[in-house]
Amino acid sequence: MFTREYAKEMDKQDNLSKYRKEFYIKEGQIYLDGNSLGLLSKRAEASLLNVLQSWRDNGIDGWTEGDNPWFYLSENLGEKMASLVGAGKEEVVVTGSTTSNLHQLVASFYMPNGNKTKILADELAFPTDIYALQSQLEIKGYNHRTHLLKAISTDGHFLKEEDIIKEMTEEIALIVLPSILYRSGQILDMKRLTKEAHKRNIIIGFDLCHSIGAISHELSAWGVDFAFWCNYKHLNGGPGSVAGLYVNKQHFGTKPGLAGWFSSKKDKQFDMEHQLTPEKNAGAFQMGTPHILSLAPIIGSLSMFNEAGIDNIRKKSLMLTSYMQELIKEELAPYNFVIRSPKEDEKRGGHLFLEHPEAARICKALKANNVIPDFRSPNGIRIAPVALYNTFEEVWLTVQKLKGIMEEEQYKQFENIRGVIA
Ligand SMILES: *Cc1c(COP(=O)(O)O)cnc(C)c1O
Repeated sequence: MFTREYAKEMDKQDNLSKYRKEFYIKEGQIYLDGNSLGLLSKRAEASLLNVLQSWRDNGIDGWTEGDNPWFYLSENLGEKMASLVGAGKEEVVVTGSTTSNLHQLVASFYMPNGNKTKILADELAFPTDIYALQSQLEIKGYNHRTHLLKAISTDGHFLKEEDIIKEMTEEIALIVLPSILYRSGQILDMKRLTKEAHKRNIIIGFDLCHSIGAISHELSAWGVDFAFWCNYKHLNGGPGSVAGLYVNKQHFGTKPGLAGWFSSKKDKQFDMEHQLTPEKNAGAFQMGTPHILSLAPIIGSLSMFNEAGIDNIRKKSLMLTSYMQELIKEELAPYNFVIRSPKEDEKRGGHLFLEHPEAARICKALKANNVIPDFRSPNGIRIAPVALYNTFEEVWLTVQKLKGIMEEEQYKQFENIRGVIA
């Protein structure tokens, strides 16, 4: 297991290995940052060029003509994405951004009533989610200091479902939680949390940014009320690509909190009436004209996910992360790394989180060695070996390079502070 030959053998047995050549991978580089920005694939490039071609050839008629008529693209991609989240075809639409979708969903489903007025999130949440919840509370006239509760993490890395459930009091109207924590990579038990929330008449939604394209979901079967996610991480849709949202069909017909003309029933939209007739599916939660050029790469990228199968992707991803954990434990034992990701497969998402006091400059040394990780302040190294384009040999090489960096103290050539992004 600790030899390069073993890693090569694993690559030979990998039935997803054929997808690697579909991506643009820089010669000599090991890219392990697919959970921040996935790489460009040839299919995503082709679908973007195809949409440009349609603009070139059809002008305004591109809205209804060409291979992917733009007017229906958000809905069509939603249908194709639905299987990745375990939803019905009409429950998903590809629209907006993670943050704007969260605003839309909270504006639509946060209905403070009597003393049921508070929102529950968690201490480890991604900042944009907290900012959005704070501003939604303020818009409704509540002070976020009293009305936004955060479930605690006892160790600063993980959340316990029991601790979250304890916070589900009568005062809570709405819950927003991540499916996978962006730092430790812990998967929350969405099924259990949804069940507990519903027992108490609380609406619950999840941020799937780190789980879409990495693990499978059963949002409809679990009864999750809503969800939202970005498509530029594991889904490889490109920087700033259009995001996704899911609304459970039980809520079809709910008035969109932030309406726009794309909330309209499709066949009514161009009647141009001042009385909105919202669509009776997830499409109602769109606002304005979709960002077609940022939707286009998702067409190609998604076709790979649907072809490869999310269960196969998840299986390989788990093999990659557990292999890497074993190598780190063995090879880096003398160097003070702490793995902050769950050891159990059922709880571990698509990336690993390593802590080290010198993390910022270790990341810089890795980059100097042509390995691309992700630094998370103050002392975290996030590593995502991605099933569609990374190899077992790359995992092996990365750990060897990390060992060299520590053994030879290469990291000391760099300052231990972060750059603007990571
Ligand atoms: C990446 C990420 C976001 C990003 O939100 P944008 O609106 O796409 O900038 C939000 N939440 C989580 C958990 C993320 O990982």
